[in-house]
Amino acid sequence: MRDSFLPVGLWNQRYFTGRWETGPLPTAAVIEPATGEQLGQVANADAARIAQSAQAAKDAQASWFARPYEERAAVFRRAAQLGHEHFDDIVHWLVRESGSTRAKAAFETSISIKALQESAALPSRSQGEVLPSTPGRLSLARRRPLGVIGIISPFNFPLYLAMRAVAPALAVGNGVVLKPDPRTAVCGGFVIARLFELAGLPEGLLHVLPGGAEAGAALTSDPNVAMIQFTGSTGAGRKVGEAAGRHLKKVSLELGGKNSLIVLDDADLDLAVANATWGVYLHQGQICMSTGRLLVQRGIYEQFLARLASKAKSLTVGDPATADVHLGPLINAQQRDHAYRVVQAAQQAGATLEAGGNFDGLFFQATVLGGVTRDNPAFNEEIFGPVAVVVPFDTDEEAVALANDTEYGLSAAVLSQDVGRALKLGEQLRVGLLHINDQTVNDEVINPFGGVGASGNGTSIGGVANHEEFTQWQWLTVKGDAPAYPL
Ligand code: NAD
Repeated sequence: MRDSFLPVGLWNQRYFTGRWETGPLPTAAVIEPATGEQLGQVANADAARIAQSAQAAKDAQASWFARPYEERAAVFRRAAQLGHEHFDDIVHWLVRESGSTRAKAAFETSISIKALQESAALPSRSQGEVLPSTPGRLSLARRRPLGVIGIISPFNFPLYLAMRAVAPALAVGNGVVLKPDPRTAVCGGFVIARLFELAGLPEGLLHVLPGGAEAGAALTSDPNVAMIQFTGSTGAGRKVGEAAGRHLKKVSLELGGKNSLIVLDDADLDLAVANATWGVYLHQGQICMSTGRLLVQRGIYEQFLARLASKAKSLTVGDPATADVHLGPLINAQQRDHAYRVVQAAQQAGATLEAGGNFDGLFFQATVLGGVTRDNPAFNEEIFGPVAVVVPFDTDEEAVALANDTEYGLSAAVLSQDVGRALKLGEQLRVGLLHINDQTVNDEVINPFGGVGASGNGTSIGGVANHEEFTQWQWLTVKGDAPAYPL
């Protein structure tokens, strides 16, 4: 079955333009992080290839939007059905190429299918409003596709974070050039290409071109690309935002985070540890919404820290393709070295190492740092590794001040048996995603998703936000006869 969906022979040394093409492009190895094994090679797009694809997507876009809305919707329903049929194959690639555990890969595949299903409903949505106007004039505000959307996606939830943009962008009538992260070009790019190819998306409308920062920069400055949807680090996002501004493109930036989970002293301790474990360690902490700070009220702090450390020590780390582990590998040595550096620096700055702290290859132990203070690097830096940063606090006001002491503003959560108290505290947090009695890693596809501050530029993606995100207003007026103006 695996061979029929995404055989290596189909995509090896290729890229997707509606067809699987080879070209005079350099190739990059597809590496399995858990083993170092080379799984294949992808063609690396250069600026010329990006330009050709942007032009082709523009050429294909108008006739796509002109198709009956039922026809457009049917493509997404078929793609979702194909996602179900090839579920195990997709999970396989997420596990091997991105180091996901099977549970994370299955969850990611499911929500990506949900994104397709939700997108199937977009073509039949109302496109706008009828406005009051002068007598005899029909005045409409209607939403139109932007043209070609350039999508730049990261390695951590590679399939979903690309699909959450590709599917709605196409559904409302745009063409798309997707540049997945080169480390996850198969599960974050070619899986999507294949689903749409088999679902019958017209050729030339979706292009999947693996490549690095240079390819992303070329996409951002291409004159045929009307909008960039970028998900990734704040550093790269700033560059993309600057370039998009220079070229007068709409830009959606979904960036990094340093997300606080606040545990109040009346919280159930077992549930608090379970929530913290999920928020910190899911996908080895490589999630923008990962719990980057655990703010724990002094009365329960010692107990919480001891229980979390014991839980962390019980978590297994290994190759998710061959063993049923809690944590897989980090994506590469650079990411691992960054996490290790922060853990070392945190201890030098006075934090205590309560669990983990070391690695074997790309397998980083579930780590707990206690007694972290505001001036500690672990308090401030996005680690993107399996590291719990535990910070004691005394009052609710102090918890608010600690949680807001960051340039980021993506997600936050509060645990308490007193919902009123938790909500009052939560309402003072400067974030785009707020959860009362849950941890920080949550996405249901149908919710608007976006951060404030250095976590994004105020746009949102998902659910009710998608129509707005991937279209622009047009004012249309219609009169029976042209007026006889007096000039
Ligand atoms: P990254 O910024 O290095 O890479 C993300 C993507 O941007 C990749 O496709 C990369 O090739 C491309 N890129 C890099 N530099 C570029 C440039 N100058 N111009 C155009 N494209 C460029 O991100 P990463 O470190 O691989 O991913 C992790 C980061 O992404 C974390 O900071 C994480 O918080 C963030 N993230 C945010 C969200 C969100 O929805 N807010 C989701 C997932 C990850």
